[in-house]
Amino acid sequence: MATPHTSDAAPADAAVQEEHIRHRRPYGSVLETIGWTPMIRLARVARGIRTPLYGKADFFNPGGSVKDRVGMPMIESHERAGTLKPGGTIVEATSGNTGVGLAIAAALKGYRCIFTMPDKMSQEKVRLLKAFGAEVIITPTAVPHDHPQNYVMMAKRIVSETPGAVLAGQFENPANPAAHMATTGPEIWEQTDGRITHFVAGAGTGGTITGVARYLKSKNPNIKIIAADPMGSVLAELWRSKGEGHPTGAPYKVEGVGQDCIPLTLDMSVIDEFISVSDKDAFGMARRLTREEGIFVGGSAGMIAHAAMNVARRLDDPDACVVTFLCDTGERYLSKVFNDEWMRENQMLDVSPTTIAAVLGN
Ligand code: PMP
Repeated sequence: MATPHTSDAAPADAAVQEEHIRHRRPYGSVLETIGWTPMIRLARVARGIRTPLYGKADFFNPGGSVKDRVGMPMIESHERAGTLKPGGTIVEATSGNTGVGLAIAAALKGYRCIFTMPDKMSQEKVRLLKAFGAEVIITPTAVPHDHPQNYVMMAKRIVSETPGAVLAGQFENPANPAAHMATTGPEIWEQTDGRITHFVAGAGTGGTITGVARYLKSKNPNIKIIAADPMGSVLAELWRSKGEGHPTGAPYKVEGVGQDCIPLTLDMSVIDEFISVSDKDAFGMARRLTREEGIFVGGSAGMIAHAAMNVARRLDDPDACVVTFLCDTGERYLSKVFNDEWMRENQMLDVSPTTIAAVLGN
């Protein structure tokens, strides 16, 4: 693996510099800046753990999340199929980030965008989508996946009633996992010099984990793929029961990950282990990454990093290499994860030892 850059390291030699310098030439459009996100050693949050832990920083994408990678590929899949024509409309059910990825590509291609979003998603994401000129329809979160008011059902209805509209279809479009197999997987392989032993990610559509797993396992079938899942999502339970039973799930606050049914874009067979994580642990780790590493990420990145830390601690192996996925920027959650009042209202903030000491006067 390339020598990690540290603030006290000697100046990097030319070869190392060559590997890390991007942006030497102007790009034709912002779309060309998607991907080749940095990989960052998480040495401070993983203090005392011998297993090296790295974060794949996909919040570096221009739209601030991993989902920029799938916007254009999904649009092009519809153009190739002839279902999306010039002047057409792109409709999608999104927790926000896929909407941004699609809106960036649609801005360059001149398509109209209509997005449906469950009401639990942050206001920042709604405003962001509107900033790109998209129309946003908010739907109730607390309805079953086959209810007409469900955000996917609503998106499908809008498509059927809007001439020239197509559903981007992140939960079923093979272009979603394929984009990760073509870009995210090879980047991680190259950035770790093929030394990665464990990849930890979440699953919303499952596009990231499925595509990356397929690529990494094609290179080395011994690489372990670990899914972090919010407590309340049914994915972990369905994986353990091999699809048997009908778990009902429960509400949770972390956004963009977990499901109430298995999407077509998620290949459960590539996953070696599921780790369930509470909202409190997820948000606590997002805050730690921000304050201890200076890496400002959202709750799903916190959830995945929490699971990855447990994997690294359990392995206790300097020769292993654990890669966690940093999905989106914390700016999207300033009103929630990074708002002490909201955290307190939701019983997710512990009283800090310094506050206790100050109150007790010791
Ligand atoms: N984190 C966040 C914040 C997301 O928006 C998403 C996408 N819904 C994911 C993680 C999961 O990515 P994927 O859809 O590729 O499973």
